[in-house]
Amino acid sequence: MDLNKLLYEKFGYSSFRNNQKEIIHDLLNSKDVLAMLPTGGGKSLLYQLTGLLLPGVVVIVSPLLSLMEDQVEQIKAFGDKRVIALNSFRSFEQKKYLFNNISSYKFIFVSPEMLQNQFLIHKLSTSRISLFVVDEAHCISQWGHDFRPEYKTLGEIKRKLNNPTVLALTATASKNVREEIIETLQLKHVQKYINSVNRENIAIQIEKVDSEIEKINSLTDHLSKLTGPGIVYCGTRAACEKISHTIREKLNCKVAYYHGGMEHEQRILIQQQFIQNQIDIIVCTSAFGMGINKPNVRFVIHYQYPSNIENYLQEIGRAGRDGQPSIAILLVCEEDHELPLRLIDDEILSVNQVESFLAYLKRFEENPIKLSETLVNNWKAVFQFSEIQWTTLHSEMLKYTVIVDDTLYLEKINHDLLESIKELISERKKVKYLKLKAMIDFLSSSTCYREKYLLLFDEMLEQRPINCCNICGLSFEEYCSNDHEKFEKTNVLSWEQELRNKLGL
Ligand code: ADP
Ligand code: MG
Repeated sequence: MDLNKLLYEKFGYSSFRNNQKEIIHDLLNSKDVLAMLPTGGGKSLLYQLTGLLLPGVVVIVSPLLSLMEDQVEQIKAFGDKRVIALNSFRSFEQKKYLFNNISSYKFIFVSPEMLQNQFLIHKLSTSRISLFVVDEAHCISQWGHDFRPEYKTLGEIKRKLNNPTVLALTATASKNVREEIIETLQLKHVQKYINSVNRENIAIQIEKVDSEIEKINSLTDHLSKLTGPGIVYCGTRAACEKISHTIREKLNCKVAYYHGGMEHEQRILIQQQFIQNQIDIIVCTSAFGMGINKPNVRFVIHYQYPSNIENYLQEIGRAGRDGQPSIAILLVCEEDHELPLRLIDDEILSVNQVESFLAYLKRFEENPIKLSETLVNNWKAVFQFSEIQWTTLHSEMLKYTVIVDDTLYLEKINHDLLESIKELISERKKVKYLKLKAMIDFLSSSTCYREKYLLLFDEMLEQRPINCCNICGLSFEEYCSNDHEKFEKTNVLSWEQELRNKLGL
């Protein structure tokens, strides 16, 4: 089999990236694989291409609906229509039809909650599954940055599906997390492809400043010198908007902000403008960047620091995909330490939220409650559950059989359920605080920042790049533009204007 030819014919790519070919080869020989490859490294291609060569179905477990939908679109784009994302909110009849015809699909995306449906498992187990893919496999571990309790059941599910070949994928997982993945999925003779988390072309600068004012001055000073394009990460939506306005006023450059509170169309537009170099600087929250493939980002600045090192690495990793010298600058002052704590609290379900939700359910007139997408979206809005919070709650209700196959039985809500959720919340907080502590330790390091972050992933620095970090010493000029009037010549419409024009307003 000529894999290169297939790669070109089906996907239009002329060569494989690092490790892709070896991994596909292993999978074709029924070997389980754990692959830790950087974000944007082309992990999806591994199962997309392998699937075309295997006789049976490829099941892909993925944690978020939004990620799943992107993947479905990607597969459709290369011309395979036999793809489906199983969404628990399809009607009973639709589901019955889909489940009964499951083997007419080649690629089946499914969330871990959905795999708790016994009828689906039964149907899957009677079809031929050639590959079981666990995307974002670090979700298996408490110590992963995005723990999903439902992921814990995947080993058992794999067994019920007659032990197909497994492909576990992640971008960042420490050694412990990797071991937990292997153990949970019961991978006996697993082939491991672990890429280093070291990004040697990205220099690291951590800058401590005395006040917020000093921080903004330092930011604008850097931005006036640095060669773009670049990304500025902020911790909140409000900060994004504010900082972006300040930059526009002070530097008169092509800057836009991006965060999860904006309309979908606006976000797509900004993202496209940035990718097509119509915007120099994007000021954003962590909502920006997932699945964005822009090779020439020259700098990433953190105006507020993320609450764990995995997210930090993920975010700085958006610089220098083309391998060219790039820089990651993080600005920090004393006032900054409060925000990550608040963000952690907002991220995790709160006991209050759960208690008022359960109390509300108890007053519900209908019992059992037939769950529909509209109903659940309504609950999410009223109780302000994020997608992650809702899936956590949902999976606990599955565990206690409060929810069975999209029907909620009120009489099953009891003390144990609440206690179990409380325990989960407190465990999650503990882990998140520890991760935050590791991040703060990193920021206060008195020795090489690169060695420090590598150590967190059980790696040693093999060769120090010339521009390593500001503790080892780096020449900032390398990243600066000589063109002092670089921002003066620009005259690009802001996204607000562009959107208005597009809509003919
Ligand atoms: P991730 O590893 O983060 O899941 P993706 O699978 O989303 O990354 O891939 C990122 C991008 O790289 C996609 O646009 C994909 O089509 C592209 N890609 C994957 N493999 C190759 C290749 N061999 N050559 C060129 N582009 C590739
Ligand atoms: Mg991916």
